[in-house]
Amino acid sequence: MAQKKAEGKIRHIGFSYHDDADMLDRILTDHPETELVQLQLNYIDWENESVQSRKCYEVCVKHGVQVTVIEPLKGGALVRLPEVAANILKEANPDAGNASWGIRFAASLDQVMVVLSGMSDLEQVEDNISYMKDFHPLTEGERETIAKTVQIIGDSIAIPCTACRYCTSGCPKKIAIPEYFSLYNNQKQFGLLAGLATTYGNLTATHGKPEDCIGCKQCENHCPQHLPIVENLKLVAEAFQM
Ligand code: SF4
Ligand code: SF4
Repeated sequence: MAQKKAEGKIRHIGFSYHDDADMLDRILTDHPETELVQLQLNYIDWENESVQSRKCYEVCVKHGVQVTVIEPLKGGALVRLPEVAANILKEANPDAGNASWGIRFAASLDQVMVVLSGMSDLEQVEDNISYMKDFHPLTEGERETIAKTVQIIGDSIAIPCTACRYCTSGCPKKIAIPEYFSLYNNQKQFGLLAGLATTYGNLTATHGKPEDCIGCKQCENHCPQHLPIVENLKLVAEAFQM
């Protein structure tokens, strides 16, 4: 890459990163030519010990490396917030959508140069533009609001699966991992509703059951959220024992 840069074929050297902060520190120490690191960074993963958003960001600051952000809304989970968490944001600013809080959180960090936000329709594009065109970093009060929201979400989302489905294709037992986790989260938030039980029954008829898991961990090696899928499937099996 250094050679290509010297030839003028590329402008900057960087990479996307999904591991812990210690490894990132080692890589950036060994490769001071790095100018950019792409990190999964959002307010829910900021203090998450699996993702280590804050720790990885601080390593980048230490090495003077710019950051591009992916998953600022955690695969849409920070838009589809539990009602009680969404209400906290709404009370603080009735005009701001849930997405704006997540994107502004990432964009407010000094070393962040780009926040990559997946948008699937014009409305989302216009919403993002509305608060990024004339950008204001988060105020101290807004940070406190986010801290309260994190607390609420942490209490209510039992398994923080983003339904990216990276785990499913290689499962030898064809277990519908994200669907089971979604049902489990719903069950934890709202209790075992009849509809959930029916969906669970339908899923087990067409896919492997949670208890069919053989613990090969193929799925865990592909999970960007570093979820303990095997253990979580045991929780699902217990919760839906019928
Ligand atoms: S550990 Fe279980 S869920 Fe994961 S790939 Fe293996 S069988 Fe499937
Ligand atoms: S890879 Fe992880 S986050 Fe993605 S669907 Fe599977 S369990 Fe969920």
